[in-house]
Amino acid sequence: MKIEAIQTYILRSPLDKPFYSSQARFTDRNSLLVRICTDDGIVGWGEGGQYGPPEPVACCINDVLAPRLINTPADTPNRTFEELYAFSRDFGQKGTYIEALSAIDIALWDIMGKSLGRPVHALLGGAFRNQVKAYGTGCYYPDFFADTPKMLAALESEAQQLKESGLRAVKIKIGLLPIEIDGQRVDLVRQIFGSDFPLMIDANHAYNATSATRMGRRVESNEILWFEEPVTPEDHAGYQQVRRSLNIPIAGGECEFTRYGFRDLIEDCVDIVQLDLCCAGGFTEWQKISALASIFSKPVLPHVWGSGIAVAAALQAIATAPPCPHTAYPVALQNEPMIEFDRTPNPIRDDLLQQPFRLENGYLAVPAGPGLGVEIDEAVLQRLTVSH
Ligand code: CA
Repeated sequence: MKIEAIQTYILRSPLDKPFYSSQARFTDRNSLLVRICTDDGIVGWGEGGQYGPPEPVACCINDVLAPRLINTPADTPNRTFEELYAFSRDFGQKGTYIEALSAIDIALWDIMGKSLGRPVHALLGGAFRNQVKAYGTGCYYPDFFADTPKMLAALESEAQQLKESGLRAVKIKIGLLPIEIDGQRVDLVRQIFGSDFPLMIDANHAYNATSATRMGRRVESNEILWFEEPVTPEDHAGYQQVRRSLNIPIAGGECEFTRYGFRDLIEDCVDIVQLDLCCAGGFTEWQKISALASIFSKPVLPHVWGSGIAVAAALQAIATAPPCPHTAYPVALQNEPMIEFDRTPNPIRDDLLQQPFRLENGYLAVPAGPGLGVEIDEAVLQRLTVSH
């Protein structure tokens, strides 16, 4: 079984209401998908990158990697990853190249599963669960974030909706505003959710270590399950300082790449490892990063912010994660994994699959069909594609 054709798709969908994280104003959602066809007619799908511009990833696949892959085996994803990584090591250890490799890797595992009639989680050694509890990601900032009363009123309304949507845990954004105002945001959401509802905060690396520590102390009494990306991904000393200073678990990893990048992060910086399968190296690197994290009994809870392909890939991977550490009765977010379920508007996530992911009693089902276990709606693909 050989690779016969590789095609990229840049999908883009404008947003009616732009929103902010601490880093950026989002006016649209985009995804980079790759479609790989084999000489015996099997089609595999992958996704590369999370929210950055998809064009460089498409260029990397089309102009550099695809010519090297045509007529090579389609059923050796580990070997293909190693050879492409070795090829691009001197100029592409992080970022665009690894996002391109991730997309290709996910598509090759999809192909291998389809060729054998088995889901990816079976190829990875078998599933521990057929459904995964989901936590919602939401409560970003509206365009009127500087109008504090109006911003807090909108936050209250959104938090209420999230609580009533059937989610069992929620992660909200901090980091854009002064610490005291963001502290009020966390207080308000905790008040709406009540004391027992799992609540996490995500700064998207908005702080240095001292500001992150101030923020953490400001909200520590709110029973925060984790503080995500408190400092910049390069600032490992800052991660260590924040982690020592706070009584809140520290999470991070969505801006890190490959097992080489994750080594120090896992050992010293975070309590919860958040690789993104579409960025860090697909299923091939997921296995290696998960093995590293298991040595330290640190859970790997993937970052997911992409299309339905990204959600499917994360579910296939999480299905295979053992309870960390083992107990006779695993508890979500304690030693049982959860999946990130982005609740911000994204038609590429909601409409692209023939059978979109839906919450059932707070859980998402792990697709049981061959490969990723999902099918693309070709009409939606055509509608959302802005460039091949
Ligand atoms: Ca995040």
